[in-house]
Amino acid sequence: MDRLLVALDVPSSTQALALVGAVGDVVGGFKIGKQLFTAEGPAAVEPLVAAGHRVFLDLKFHDIPTTVTGAVRSAVGLGTWMLTVHASGGREMMRAARAAAEAEAAERGRPRPLIVAATVLTSLDERRLQEMGVAQPLTKQVETLALLARESGMDGVVASPQEITRLRTVCGTDFLIVTPGIRRQQSSGAIPLDDQARTLSAAGAIAAGASYIVVGRPITAAVDPRAAARAIAEEVTSTLR
Ligand code: C5P
Repeated sequence: MDRLLVALDVPSSTQALALVGAVGDVVGGFKIGKQLFTAEGPAAVEPLVAAGHRVFLDLKFHDIPTTVTGAVRSAVGLGTWMLTVHASGGREMMRAARAAAEAEAAERGRPRPLIVAATVLTSLDERRLQEMGVAQPLTKQVETLALLARESGMDGVVASPQEITRLRTVCGTDFLIVTPGIRRQQSSGAIPLDDQARTLSAAGAIAAGASYIVVGRPITAAVDPRAAARAIAEEVTSTLR
């Protein structure tokens, strides 16, 4: 299932490759984030790309345009399919990211990676935003940054489940919404939260307008990751029917 991405939030390539082996033919790609990339570097990405898997490099670049340009060029060199930046890096930074992706991809004769922007971290609340000098309400700030991302050539945004519907309305249909915070309802009816405060089922997120869902622990910590991935993939497929 194309729209289901698995977060490889593990400390080593050995553990990551075991998960890739278990669910690789069921899911649409793998997210490599700061933990695995800081531990293993490009060696975490290369075997996945070599095996034909789509890699979503979630390093949330946020720096001056020149530095982000270099980082994005390196990500293209790794064969990254999708990557993240912080929208709060601003218009020039995002434009530079897009231009670097296009230029490096053209030079290498490969497809340009998709670039999606993180808006407001879900760990922040209204009080913390105000502390940082952001006066407008959190939801408005998310919209402001999402629109800026779209204007600056980003392909989409990373959005929490509760933001999907509104962002789909504000940003239109041809804008990617990538959503983590997915949880499965148990047969008991309970939804395990882990540290995710606001969650949605895979079906709920897709129905609300998510383009891709990013699922970590419900698959990676499952007794049978393959069965868990198949169940979520099936849930997404039947929602799209
Ligand atoms: O294990 P879980 O399904 O919660 O993993 C979700 C993934 O998405 C993790 O890699 C997490 O860091 C990331 N993420 C998130 N919430 C956000 C942004 C990113 O859970 N708001």
